[in-house]
Amino acid sequence: MAVAGFQHETNTFAPVKADFDAFAVPGAWPGLLRGAEVIAGTRGRNLPIAGFCEAAERAGHTLLPLSWTAASPSAQVTDDAFARIANQILEDLSQQVGLDAVYLDLHGAMVTEREADGEGALLAQVRALVGDQLPVVASLDLHANVSRAMVDRADALISYRTYPHVDMAETGARALAQLDGLFNGTAGRATAFRQIPFLIPLTAGCTLSEPGRGVYARLAEIEEARPGVMLSFNCGFPPADVPDAGASVIAHARDQTTADAAADDLAAYVTEREDAFGADILPAGSAVTQAIELVRARRGPVVLADTQDNPGAGGNGDTTGLLRELLAQGASGVLAGLLHDPDAARAAHDAGEGAVIEVSLGGRTPGDTPLDVGVKVAAVGDGQVTGVGPFYRGARLQLGPCALLALDGGRVRVAVVSRKLQAADRAPFLHLGADPAEAAILALKSSVHFRADFGPIASDILIAAAPGPNPVDHTQLAYRHLRAGVRLMPNGPTFLGAPRG
Ligand SMILES: [Zn+2]
Repeated sequence: MAVAGFQHETNTFAPVKADFDAFAVPGAWPGLLRGAEVIAGTRGRNLPIAGFCEAAERAGHTLLPLSWTAASPSAQVTDDAFARIANQILEDLSQQVGLDAVYLDLHGAMVTEREADGEGALLAQVRALVGDQLPVVASLDLHANVSRAMVDRADALISYRTYPHVDMAETGARALAQLDGLFNGTAGRATAFRQIPFLIPLTAGCTLSEPGRGVYARLAEIEEARPGVMLSFNCGFPPADVPDAGASVIAHARDQTTADAAADDLAAYVTEREDAFGADILPAGSAVTQAIELVRARRGPVVLADTQDNPGAGGNGDTTGLLRELLAQGASGVLAGLLHDPDAARAAHDAGEGAVIEVSLGGRTPGDTPLDVGVKVAAVGDGQVTGVGPFYRGARLQLGPCALLALDGGRVRVAVVSRKLQAADRAPFLHLGADPAEAAILALKSSVHFRADFGPIASDILIAAAPGPNPVDHTQLAYRHLRAGVRLMPNGPTFLGAPRG
C-alpha cells in the first residue's frame, strides 16, 4: 500500500500564503518527510497517517511510504509549493510496482493560487496515474470542504468525528479498515454525497456539546443499523471563498440505495437542527468584563477564546485586540498566547531574563496595529516543546525562540513564539514556566481545539470576538465564489452569486 499525506486548511481571507517553506520547515508539524521518514517521523502521534500505518503493519500489509507534509492553516498554497509537493508524491508513486492500494492523508480544504479545490486536483493526478481499478482511499479533516470532484476520484473519503480532533490517528485506522473491507467485500464502492445548505460557524461544530455531539451519535446509529455503511459528516471550513465551502455528508455502502438512504438520513438530521448551529459569541469588551466578574466570584481559570485570530483557521496569531481590552479593563492574573512575534521574541532573548525593554508587540495582520509597550522579560525558551494534551500529544513542536513577557506590572503575561501555533496545548506555556492552571484568565488564540487540554482546568469558557481574519459571523466576509443558494449563517442570508462590478 502506497501512503502519502499533504495537508493544508486554506482561509482565503487570511493575510499570508503557504509557500514551499511553510511545508518544508518543521514547526507545529514535522516538515516535509519522504520515504521511510514518513513512518518514523509520525509514529505514535495523533495523525491519520500514523494511525493508518500502525493498523496496516499490525494487519501484515507492506507499506510503501511516499511523502507526508502539513503546513499551518493560512491563505492559499502557492502554485509553486503545490506543484513541487504533488510532483514529489506522484514521482515516487510512479516508481512503485505491484501496488494493491493508495492511502492519502488529506485535509480537504486546500485552495491553491490556481485551484479552488486542491484535493480534487491532487486526487485527479493520482487517479490518472494508477487507473480506475486500484483502490484510492483518503482520510479528511472534519473541516473538509468536500467537492464532487474529490468524491468521484476516491473509492472512500473518511473524516474525523471529533472537534477537538482527538481521533486523527483513529481515523487513519478506520481508513485501513475501509480498505480491508473493499478487499474482502464487507464494504462497497457505492457513494452518496450531500451538501448542507448553510455554513456552520467553527465554534458550533464542537463535538463536546450539542448540536455537534448529537450529529455524531446519529451517525453511529445509522452505521449500526446498516452494516457495510461508512459515514462521514464534515462541518466544513467557512472562511474559504470557494464553491464547495461548507458542511457535507459522505456515505459509502455496497449498493447505491443504501448509500443514498444513509446520507439522506444524516443530512436530514443536520438540516432539521439549523437553529442549533448558531454562534454563541461575545464582543471582546463584554467577554473581558464577564471574565473579570467571574474571577471576582472566585472562579477560574476563565478561558477567553480569541477565535477570530485562531492560527488553526488561518489567523496570524498576532492580533492585539483582546490584549488591549484586558489591559484597558485592568484585568489581572492573565496568561495570554500564543502571540506570534519573532521580533519581540528575539529582542527578549537579546535582553535576557529580568530585563525591561520596549517592544512593538504583534499587530502585523492587516487592519491591526502593534501594541507599543514596556515589558519585563519573565522567561525565555528555545521553543523545543513536546505536546502533552490530547490534540498535540507527542508532537515535537519547534516554535523557535520564545519568551514570556510581563505587562502592566505583571498583571498580564504574554507567551510569545517565533513560529505560529494554535494555543491548543499547555506545553508551550509550561516551557516558559507559566502554569495555565494557576492563571485567573487565559486568553487563548484558538476556536475549539483548546478545549481538549484546557477544558479540564477551566471553570468557564467565553468565546470573544476581537478583530481578526476568521470572523465567526460569516456575513462579514466578502464572498464572491460560493455556490448560489447556500446560507452564510444558520438561518442567515442566502448567497445569490458574485456581487456585480
Ligand atoms: Zn479541523
